[in-house]
Amino acid sequence: MIEGILNKKVLSKADIIRILKCDEHDTLKLFEKSSQIKAETIGNNVYYRGLIEFSNQCEKDCYYCGIRRSNKDFSRYNLKDEEILEAAEFASQQNYGSIALQSGEKTSPAFTQRIEKLLKAIKKLSNGQLGITISLGEQSEETYQRWLNAGADRYLLRIESSNPDLYYKIHPNNPQHNHEKRIDCIRTLRKLGYQAGTGVMVGLPFQTYEDLADDLLFMKSIDIDMCGMGPFIEHSNTPLYQYKDELMPIKERFVLTLKMIALLRILMPDINIAAATALQAIEANGREKALQIGANVIMPNITPGMYRDDYNLYENKPKTNQKTSDYTTYLEKQIAIWGNHVAYGQQGNSLHFKKRQANISIKNS
Ligand code: SAM
Repeated sequence: MIEGILNKKVLSKADIIRILKCDEHDTLKLFEKSSQIKAETIGNNVYYRGLIEFSNQCEKDCYYCGIRRSNKDFSRYNLKDEEILEAAEFASQQNYGSIALQSGEKTSPAFTQRIEKLLKAIKKLSNGQLGITISLGEQSEETYQRWLNAGADRYLLRIESSNPDLYYKIHPNNPQHNHEKRIDCIRTLRKLGYQAGTGVMVGLPFQTYEDLADDLLFMKSIDIDMCGMGPFIEHSNTPLYQYKDELMPIKERFVLTLKMIALLRILMPDINIAAATALQAIEANGREKALQIGANVIMPNITPGMYRDDYNLYENKPKTNQKTSDYTTYLEKQIAIWGNHVAYGQQGNSLHFKKRQANISIKNS
């Protein structure tokens, strides 16, 4: 039965829901199909983005997130510019190809200017070689444009859920947490010329299979270039923790996330898909498994050690020190065991984006 669905040219919402609910045997068939599509379309190269979680200061109050504004029970940090540049230098020396800068959300002229300066400095220190992904939340079009001009290549802004009702169950319903605005930001990023990425959390309280199918169809309809999606993991100091006993067991959230990645690879064969860090919080080699069944990007965490543990989005966030050459070698071997190959020194830009840009130039010529 599942082969019939997997061989269809276009998957309907009902097909996607069926696959999301399928048993272990059919899950293996799904993974075979998604790995095959990945190998045929983008190959088995894996691209590194050295992840620098440079600040856990946040203006937002998302009900699921450990670094939300209202959580006063941990220490806030903000790396110095030199520390960020030192981490970027490490990525450059290790031949990572790209870095990803992420932080809690801040919107101020000073913040815009700081990031602008950092982007220029990172491009300079790597002679323009390091690709840069940023994930700094909702900003004005002008700010996005300034950061693009300063050297950012890609932007990741997870939609968290495409269903507005679910969105407002996991966020306050106020102008600072506005679902439509978040979607508009993704459209703006795409329009400005970023490689634009989004994603959702899988296994949220109140989330249905129908929501997840809609999330995948949303990503296709908005025509994203890349995706980062991971399992929801509860944090005891957040409002959503009260629903912990109603959640799907953590191992099921893990498998469901892998199914979402596999399905997205089938729906959008040429985009970049990240193997989310939260998968590693559930299984030590969770990210490598995701790479095997459809993902092609991994983000070794190169945030300096003394800060890393305070970027505490959820419980059991991995504490392994990944900012060493030994870890780079270790990860490379792990990735090879699961059938992939690290593409050192390559930025690993989204093939989907490249095709999109080529189409735009043909139309304009
Ligand atoms: N401020 C930026 C933004 O709003 O996109 C980036 C930082 S935000 C902490 C990065 C992502 O962490 C969110 O988009 C969310 O999906 C994820 N996250 C937060 N809390 C989580 C949790 N409890 N479980 C899994 N992922 C979580």
